Amino acid sequence: MGTPLDTRTAQAEEVLERLYEEYPDTTISLSYSNRLELLIAVMLSAQCTDERVNTVTAELFEKYDTAEDYAAADQEELAEDINSITYFNNKAKYIRSACADIIEKHDGEVPDTMSELTDLAGVGRKTANVVLQHGHDIVEGIVVDTHVQRLSRRLGLTDEEYPERIEEDLMPVVPETDWQQFTHLFISHGRAVCNARNPDCDACVLEAICPSSKLDHDVDLASGDEW
Ligand code: SF4
Repeated sequence: MGTPLDTRTAQAEEVLERLYEEYPDTTISLSYSNRLELLIAVMLSAQCTDERVNTVTAELFEKYDTAEDYAAADQEELAEDINSITYFNNKAKYIRSACADIIEKHDGEVPDTMSELTDLAGVGRKTANVVLQHGHDIVEGIVVDTHVQRLSRRLGLTDEEYPERIEEDLMPVVPETDWQQFTHLFISHGRAVCNARNPDCDACVLEAICPSSKLDHDVDLASGDEW
């Protein structure tokens, strides 16, 4: 059918209900055992799969323990330790710089406000939101990664292209109590069914309410291109 509900609020509610049913236990897929590890893992995960990050951090977190360890690390050595990850040179620089700030300005503790987190090198709103939600139990916004970006557009929940604008569209229509799970549900569905290149609309629990469904529509609203 591919017919969305009348309002974005109603559409978001219906989408959530269907996805909760489909992915009842979904959560963050990065491995970490404390806030610093969470921050490092999320910084590494930009433009990289969580799977690869988890493989790398399994050894990295054995070698480096505290913010001091990262701040004092040799740039080349740290870059080498993460060299199977995208943009490893820049990420090594950001990690060393962020950890130096954590020591200098935050007594070695990962800060717990959006502004302090986004002041750290290499930490944008998305990374800060993940750290706040999973490290501090503070939900200030909706994490918009590539899956949330694509699916929100396909499902008619936003027309915006950029993550921060998409987040601004989503926050008023998604109940605040669902902000954290919204991201994990969209990531699960994006990986399992509604992938970037070839979404499996035939098998999708959202097909009846999706204005991008290939069964009824010619255009992928995520890209604006014809299927
Ligand atoms: S798989 Fe198809 S029907 Fe389902 S959300 Fe994606 S584009 Fe819509």
